[in-house]
Amino acid sequence: MKNVDESEIRKFENLASRWWDQNSEFKPLHEINPIRVSYISKVKNLAEKKVLDIGCGGGILAESLAHHGAIVTAIDLASASLAVAKLHNLESKLDIDYRQISAEDLAKKEPQTYDVITCLEMLEHVPKPASIVKSCFDLIKPGGLVFFSTINRNPKSYLFAILGAEYILNLLPKGTHEYVKFIRPSELATWCRESKLELQEQIGMGYNPLTKNYYLQDSLDVNYIAYYQRPK
Ligand code: SAH
Repeated sequence: MKNVDESEIRKFENLASRWWDQNSEFKPLHEINPIRVSYISKVKNLAEKKVLDIGCGGGILAESLAHHGAIVTAIDLASASLAVAKLHNLESKLDIDYRQISAEDLAKKEPQTYDVITCLEMLEHVPKPASIVKSCFDLIKPGGLVFFSTINRNPKSYLFAILGAEYILNLLPKGTHEYVKFIRPSELATWCRESKLELQEQIGMGYNPLTKNYYLQDSLDVNYIAYYQRPK
């Protein structure tokens, strides 16, 4: 059984032409990108590091990682998104290696290969997130860092991430997220513990609809980043 929800892949395939349109459905990802990349690059100098981006879509995050000097491999299962990512890679004169392969299959081919893995806003779209976490453990070198970001599951996150973002502010298309697939930090921590990844830090991401600003915050109530280390 493959760990993929085909209806999720179709959803992203249908929007693929708009990945780099800053005013499209992907606007929130463009807007949140600078704060998450600056967080990651402060934690770890990415220059010359082998970085794997899982669930890369059109390459918004992958390109920023490459701009920080990382040697980036980026994977997704949506072929239309990868086609857009590859074209944009040419335009940006970057050398990102985009591949259509699952994290599980790549883990069989390239164990202990990457210094850093990013898996942002992706776990809440797969049937078995624990299997992605396990693949991250297999793919990362001992001592390497794995960054996850996703959405917490509680009444506040339902209000902000679904009612607020999809129905009131129209930041995202309706149906982008399913509440039941949201992931509590403790659930992510359990899967990581089972995979022998060690928690380093967790930080929240907030959005102010009045100023339209995204920022890092202590509260993990809605969107959050957590990063883990594979023991040396
Ligand atoms: N990580 C990017 C894009 C997030 S959107 C960013 O944060 O900017 C979620 C992405 O996950 C989509 O591109 C979707 O195609 C991809 N995805 C969903 N299920 C997947 C799976 N099983 N394997 C790989 N990618 C998947």
